[in-house]
Amino acid sequence: MRTAASPGPAVEPCPWDSLDQVAQAVAACTKCALHATRTRTVPGEGAARARLMFVGEAPGADEDRLGRPFVGAAGQLLDKMIVAMGFAREEVFIANTLKCRPPGNRDPQEEELAACLPYLRAQIALIRPEAICSLGRHATHALLERTDALGALRGRFFDYRGTPLLPTYHPSYLLRTPGDKNAAWLDLKKIMQRLGTSRPGNEPPQEETS
Ligand code: URA
Ligand code: SF4
Repeated sequence: MRTAASPGPAVEPCPWDSLDQVAQAVAACTKCALHATRTRTVPGEGAARARLMFVGEAPGADEDRLGRPFVGAAGQLLDKMIVAMGFAREEVFIANTLKCRPPGNRDPQEEELAACLPYLRAQIALIRPEAICSLGRHATHALLERTDALGALRGRFFDYRGTPLLPTYHPSYLLRTPGDKNAAWLDLKKIMQRLGTSRPGNEPPQEETS
């Protein structure tokens, strides 16, 4: 039982000792209905000691087929964003709130998020990044436990269990709404400033317009 002296909100103990163990638990997971329709689980990938973590929504068709996060069209834009920020893709860690694909890429459901979030929370606790960039409304809402519009949350830092978290637009949204790419770039620059990766050569990700 919590007493008046117990500190802050309870943080569940992490049952896994390594990112590999988390990925193994995900591979065997049947905690929500999405296990029945997935092809592969997509636990996430990247550096175990990444300074920066990106958190997206859920695997799409390409990710479900390959078992890797952000490998489709949105992933190609994310790759450009990462490089423009002064990192190689292998230096950061890329994960999602859900580790299995929702059929037809529908929105994550509450019970799916509740079942799956312990894996993401464990990954963050194991990596202990210096900053987290949440991509889009679903990742932002899930981690911050808030429901404000993304437009009201993006571009500033919040505290996620002691780690600075900055929400920005999801790359899939930016592919549909290229007019917001500049705003996203300004968001990413705030992370670069915090991590000290800003340098004169950093340019916003360029898209072919053909
Ligand atoms: N969109 C996401 O949110 N995550 C992926 O891994 C791919 C596309
Ligand atoms: Fe388990 Fe998450 Fe996949 Fe649901 S989405 S089956 S909770 S790994």
